[in-house]
Amino acid sequence: MQALLPFNEAQEQIFQQITPTNKTESVSVKEALGRTLGEEIISPIHVPAYNNSAMDGYAIQGSDLPENGNITLEVVGSSFAGTPFEGSMQAGQSIRIMTGAKIPDGADTVIMQEKATREGEQVSFSSEDNHKAGENVRMAGEDMREGEAVLQPGKQLGSAELGMIASLGYGSVKVKKRIKVAFFSTGDELCSAGEALGDGQIYDSNRYTVFSMLSELGVELIDLGIIRDKRELIEQAFKDAAAQADVVITSGGVSVGEADFVKETLDNLGEVNFWRIAMKPGKPLAFGKVDDAWFFGLPGNPVSAMVTFLQFVRPAINHLSGKARVTPFRIPMRCINKLKKRPGRLEFQRGIMEQDEKGETVVRGAGHQGSHILRSMSIADCFIVLPAENSGVEAGDWVEVEPFQS
Ligand code: AMP
Ligand code: MG
Repeated sequence: MQALLPFNEAQEQIFQQITPTNKTESVSVKEALGRTLGEEIISPIHVPAYNNSAMDGYAIQGSDLPENGNITLEVVGSSFAGTPFEGSMQAGQSIRIMTGAKIPDGADTVIMQEKATREGEQVSFSSEDNHKAGENVRMAGEDMREGEAVLQPGKQLGSAELGMIASLGYGSVKVKKRIKVAFFSTGDELCSAGEALGDGQIYDSNRYTVFSMLSELGVELIDLGIIRDKRELIEQAFKDAAAQADVVITSGGVSVGEADFVKETLDNLGEVNFWRIAMKPGKPLAFGKVDDAWFFGLPGNPVSAMVTFLQFVRPAINHLSGKARVTPFRIPMRCINKLKKRPGRLEFQRGIMEQDEKGETVVRGAGHQGSHILRSMSIADCFIVLPAENSGVEAGDWVEVEPFQS
């Protein structure tokens, strides 16, 4: 028997082989949502563009603030957001100002209106409120400075980034081209959802979990359906898939089984490694190339297929798409129940996070951990990651938790 490949080595081998795409296209800011940035964004302006008020109140000169007692200033004008005060303010004067409005020339401080006493064209402030020169002023360029590189290629564009790009005045942005992914399920026992189930058949669920997990990655999808365990059919499916897509993903047929033609076919068609990885669930994983397309052969068991996808295929597709690499976030937590585990393989047990009576975030196992119990993925909200050498968890032990990403 081939020795088990450590989890990290499998992940590194995949990363080292795959080179990120350098193909980009220009899209409108709204269309860029969820896409990967393909250029460096340099700020052409200061944001904010001018010094402005953080409060509704009165713009004054900080040097007018009294050390003791009160001061009364004359109100000589107003500055509203979009309608600035024109002209220059002198010592002894003040300007009524609203949040976001331009600080008038001659002013450098804003006193919030709750600390001001207005009478006619006069306003007074008390030294007891401990005002400081320069307070409540947002400086030009405080968020983004003109000429500053504010976003790097590889950044996934979400709400904040779309807002940043818009606040710089850009109407379009360069993003990486979408990766095309073709996928199919293999197995004589599989039946498509919506059809009548024959004796000895099961419904194909992997094609739906793979579809969903891929949908979250912003790739173009090509669903090639179910392919029966027949040499010619499998060979044809691989050729079709590789001709259309940058990545081909299958499930089933990568374990050592009588009717599994996937391995034989791939030995003829491409360069594929059939790994036995020291992980649970999901020991078998095929990775390599079929013609010019990258290929991932997921195990058939539904939980194994999801876990290997999330741990290997998702980071690989993100890498190929040009996204900056992110190490999954793992949080130490106390596990409140016993978990069974044998030493030897890295385990991704399904867990549920909760708060105990002291308010501490703890985790518990999500019940039956069989690789065919898909419901464990549904009731769980995290993986409890147990290192290969771990030989079981007692209630109260610390474990590493990897929350599911939404
Ligand atoms: P295999 O890797 O083809 O030997 O399949 C391992 C197990 O996963 C068997 O119990 C299969 O019936 C099951 N399986 C394979 N493909 C799927 C699928 N697409 N959906 C649900 N279960 C599957
Ligand atoms: Mg099979």
